[in-house]
Amino acid sequence: MEVKTSLLDNMIGVGDMVLLEPLSEDSFINNLKKRFDHSEIYTYIGSVVVSINPYRPLPIYSPEKVEEYRNRNFYELSPHIFSLSDEAYRSLRDQDKDQCILITGESGAGKTEASKLVMSYVAAVCGKGAEVNQVKEQLLQSNPVLEAFGNAKTVRNDNSSRFVKKMLWQKLTPMTLSLDLLEKSRVVKQPRGERNFHIFYQILSGASEDMLNKLKLERDFSRYNYLSLDSARVNGVDDAVNFRTVRNAMQIVGFMDHETQSILEVVAAVLKLGNIEFKPESRVNGLDESKIKDKNGKMILVFTLALVAYYARDALAKNLYSRLFSWLVTRINESIKAQTKVRKKVMGVLDIYGFEIFEDNSFEQFIINYCNEKLQQIFIELTLKEEQEEYIREDIEWTHIEYFNNAIICDLIENNQTGILAMLDEECLRPGTVTDDTFLEKLNQVCATHQHFESRMSKCSRFLNDTSLPHSCFRIQHYAGKVMYQVEGFVDKNNDLLYRDLSQAMWKANHSLIKALFPEGNPAKINLKRPPTAGSQFKASVATLMKNLQTKNPNYIRCIKPNDKKAAHIFNEALVCHQVRYLGLLENVRVRRAGYAFRQPYELCLERYKMLCKQTWPHWRGPARAGVEVLFNELEIPKEEYSFGRSKIFIRNPRTLFKLEDLRKQR
Ligand code: ADP
Ligand code: MG
Repeated sequence: MEVKTSLLDNMIGVGDMVLLEPLSEDSFINNLKKRFDHSEIYTYIGSVVVSINPYRPLPIYSPEKVEEYRNRNFYELSPHIFSLSDEAYRSLRDQDKDQCILITGESGAGKTEASKLVMSYVAAVCGKGAEVNQVKEQLLQSNPVLEAFGNAKTVRNDNSSRFVKKMLWQKLTPMTLSLDLLEKSRVVKQPRGERNFHIFYQILSGASEDMLNKLKLERDFSRYNYLSLDSARVNGVDDAVNFRTVRNAMQIVGFMDHETQSILEVVAAVLKLGNIEFKPESRVNGLDESKIKDKNGKMILVFTLALVAYYARDALAKNLYSRLFSWLVTRINESIKAQTKVRKKVMGVLDIYGFEIFEDNSFEQFIINYCNEKLQQIFIELTLKEEQEEYIREDIEWTHIEYFNNAIICDLIENNQTGILAMLDEECLRPGTVTDDTFLEKLNQVCATHQHFESRMSKCSRFLNDTSLPHSCFRIQHYAGKVMYQVEGFVDKNNDLLYRDLSQAMWKANHSLIKALFPEGNPAKINLKRPPTAGSQFKASVATLMKNLQTKNPNYIRCIKPNDKKAAHIFNEALVCHQVRYLGLLENVRVRRAGYAFRQPYELCLERYKMLCKQTWPHWRGPARAGVEVLFNELEIPKEEYSFGRSKIFIRNPRTLFKLEDLRKQR
């Protein structure tokens, strides 16, 4: 079978890096660049899709393109995200295997766009019929809603997702959507050059005068403490237009008018909470007292210190907003009639927040980067480690290929005894005076000798003279680069305490949505247990996610950011090279090249192809392995194309498999 020209075109480079000659970092980057310059943003490494953000609309996602890629073999057409989507979808449909599509890359590399493309492809090709179509439309329209509430402008990306999104599809119908781990600290404070969640700006820009009056809001952003002003407007983004899009999407998804109204009321309440000020009112026992009073002069809350009052206010705002976000998801799932109880094979698309290195990195970046470490770990486990181990298990001749395993960094963060999260929790739960500095001291004691941990404070530190590392910081050498974390705020953000009085006040609110968001405020359900810390909740969620992913057949999209300017046509080689390195893409090619594209237990292989050979049809008596040998000899498949393992046949080139499939079809 001849190699498709689409994969080996000198003008536009090689479509599959496995075919690249000679293979080196330079040739790899050159190939990506050549393709990028010709608007070919997708390139394969075997079945992995490497995608480079074009930062401009490309005419390659039309319904005609969908038709082109439908039911075609992976290698028949030029590389495309649709091809991977089709492959995953067909495996789900025909082989009954749970699939997951893992999309990784740093912030702004194109993950969320990729996830939407996969979803729209699957929506286009999966089950038909009026009811299914409605569900599809609802699921697709949930995107603008979720992005309004869960995305924000950051330094890296004007539309950066601040949560983890997982969409699930059953064989023929979309199923559920789950979201997790919203970066809720953004509600009350945003880093320089960044914005709060889009929805706040959208309401103020897009709501009618009448609606603003009802919500008791003013149009002017500068009236609100929770809205950063230095970057309130985003180039090329019309918040007012987007507000209409979001409201329209909410309608399609199935929100009733009164529900939308309630949701917007909660958003407005969050904005107004930020404007509450506290003044010391009186001195009781030598302490300042701050109070919130309601309209009738009835005092509802008293704080002993103004500082505590502000802390409580912000905690409430964060909780209101993040609970609203979770509620939205539950509500969306209800409306798309999520059938979670029927357990069928599923396909999951996972879109997370990408790796972040800012000038000032805090608890949020720490958490986000931990999540990325874990996803890289899954990639290593399943593509580099597992693959090589299988060759050894199966006794296939094999030269080991070195790669960096980031398990050691995951351990630094999540180890139950000595991990950074465990120590943060220990500090947070310890009686006595706990500050960010005592936490850092503890880190310095426990982690000082860890290869990926750097700080200047401990006596045995290798970094005593490193003036680029301030005393209030620690640095982690992540798989994707070194990140310096400011320790300030870690303890508070991890504690994430919401005063019980506040939950109770919310539960008593004369607003059914707010009441529903704070079920623990019900005095009948009082629970004296301390709620889990933010860090431990996050760790548990990530663990569940990883466990879930490991049971599925993974499909990878590795997103690369071509420049730091969010600009089209610019390919910054150094920047791309850095990403190619830490993503382990070259190792990926090497393992793939030295290895076999396809493997199957002898029994299955014989069963599927025995019809192609007189000696094996209709029954082969004898061991399956011998049957496959006879079969492959008869079909004159070149010897170098396959190897016999202990229990499986290994096929080097996918084209051999296509040939077998074609022969089958001709029968
Ligand atoms: P991430 O989720 O990785 O942080 P996004 O998917 O939000 O990044 O992409 C950032 C921006 O890049 C998008 O808002 C869009 O403008 C542009 N972009 C990403 N992928 C594509 C694509 N395939 N085609 C056109 N533009 C894209
Ligand atoms: Mg994103």
